[in-house]
Order: sequence, then structure tokens, then C-alpha cells
Amino acid sequence: MTTDCLFCKIAAGKIPSKQVYADAEMLAFHDINPQAPVHVLVIPKKHFTSLNDFTEAEALLLGKMAVTAKKIAADLGIAESGYRVVMNTNADGGQTVAHVHLHLLGGRRLTWPPG
Ligand code: 5GP
Ligand code: ZN
Repeated sequence: MTTDCLFCKIAAGKIPSKQVYADAEMLAFHDINPQAPVHVLVIPKKHFTSLNDFTEAEALLLGKMAVTAKKIAADLGIAESGYRVVMNTNADGGQTVAHVHLHLLGGRRLTWPPG
């Protein structure tokens, strides 16, 4: 755990979250400021600052993040209607929390291209 990291604190249970999924490696919880009817964040419990920190060694972890998002989409009833997964990276990508995370967004028609 990185002591000054918000999502590490959520993963450690030091800050509460509305959890939707957890296993040994992964945690998923509702975004505090949802941008769609379904807006869930999927994070690895281990700290990585962004996707830029991932190497081949994290390929399985990244795959598990995607599969976790897919399962949650099904559980929350948006698998068929559709959804978007996003990993904002650094300033131009709009990343505001420096612990790698995947956004799962759905429950409404999302526009493209993003802003
Ligand atoms: P980013 O902007 O880094 O891609 O995404 C960070 C997300 O974390 C934002 O959508 C923001 O609303 C969410 N967020 C920030 N602080 C908290 C918090 O304390 N709890 C939860 N559940 N979400 C948070
Ligand atoms: Zn962290």
C-alpha cells in the first residue's frame, strides 16, 4: 500500500466505498461522482500509478481487470445494452487519481468522441 494514495486506502478499507466486487487481487466500487447510471471503478489492490507502470508482467492483471468489468456489467444488467471501459492516463487522459483504475460506464447512450 502507498500511504498517501486514495485508492490504496479504499483497498485497505481505511476509506469506505460502495463495493460491488472483491477478490484477492481486485476491487470494484461505485464512483463517488457517477457520470452514467452505472459508473464503477475496477482497481488492482496492488498499487500502480497508471497504465504506464504496466509491463508484460501485468498482462494477466490487466486481463483480469477487463474480465472483472465484464462480469460486473452482466451483474448490473448492462451487458446487452452496452457499456464502455476507460483507463484515463496522466494529464491529457484526464487521470485525477494516481492509482491505476478502469472505469465501467453504462446505463445510458454514451457519446463519441469523448471530450
Ligand atoms: P480519473 O479521473 O483518475 O480517471 O478517475 C478517478 C475517479 O475516482 C473519478 O471518476 C472520481 O469521481 C472518483 N473518485 C475520486 N475520489 C473518490 C472517492 O473517494 N471514492 C470513490 N468511490 N470514487 C472517487
Ligand atoms: Zn494506490
